Amino acid sequence: MFFGQYMMGATIIVLIAEILAGRHKGHHGANEKLVLWGSAISGVAIARPLSALLQAWLMGLVLPQWQGALGGISFWPAFFAVLLVAEFTFYWVHRWAHEAARWKNPWLWRLHRTHHSARYMSVLLTVRINPFWYFVVPISWVTGISVYLGQEAAAAAAATVIYAWNLMTHANFRWDDRVRAHRVAGPLFRALEHIVVSPGVHHSHHGYGKDGGPFRNYAVTFAFFDWMFGTLYIPKGRPWRYGIPGKNPVWLSEILYPVVPGRTSAADAKDMPVPSTAQT
Ligand SMILES: [Zn+2]
Ligand SMILES: [Zn+2]
Repeated sequence: MFFGQYMMGATIIVLIAEILAGRHKGHHGANEKLVLWGSAISGVAIARPLSALLQAWLMGLVLPQWQGALGGISFWPAFFAVLLVAEFTFYWVHRWAHEAARWKNPWLWRLHRTHHSARYMSVLLTVRINPFWYFVVPISWVTGISVYLGQEAAAAAAATVIYAWNLMTHANFRWDDRVRAHRVAGPLFRALEHIVVSPGVHHSHHGYGKDGGPFRNYAVTFAFFDWMFGTLYIPKGRPWRYGIPGKNPVWLSEILYPVVPGRTSAADAKDMPVPSTAQT
């Protein structure tokens, strides 16, 4: 509970900083407001707690003897294990969610699409998520299972790192542009971008056209997973456009797909940009 309040506080601080710096200008039309409020309320107030309850219930049902079983492992090894397992599993499910745009039934892409159909970047994208995504996203499952196994502190610390990184990489503050352009710091920073995800790397994941990488940069925190699996793309500048090509689904379908499937959207397989070869 404290974790949730702490993270909500951090999100609000970045949000206020973005508003004061004028970084939301022209972002929120009437339709966008409905998507944002709808996804924030249904996700944060309903889906997240429900998903946590479901995990606890399932674990108790399937592995009752494992409750607290790994509580004896000390904090640091447990923390790195939770962080790495959460990142690794997220990398793959996130990658499949994008590649699913070409599946015959692209349900996994459509669950993730709500996070990508915004035509801007800001910290609000961390809640612009279809509520059903919380039931499939591995970070929630890995941290939930870790708590069940007796590693509450390690799970909370790993979730904090991932959440804080998400805030930094979605925020509309591109401090990294100046660092990357610096004569001395630039090459060092670019080397570091092979290890950890920078705002530029994740902004590129939300973009298309020149410097966009919708089929690249799937990791949240550790870019080395993208590097390892050939999907890292370090852009030279900002992507040509943010969002997805074509017309966005109707707002209710953005929030409640698959309950409200909406018409087959232009923003599915046929309009997604063709993957290019990885550029690092
Ligand atoms: Zn994505
Ligand atoms: Zn994102």
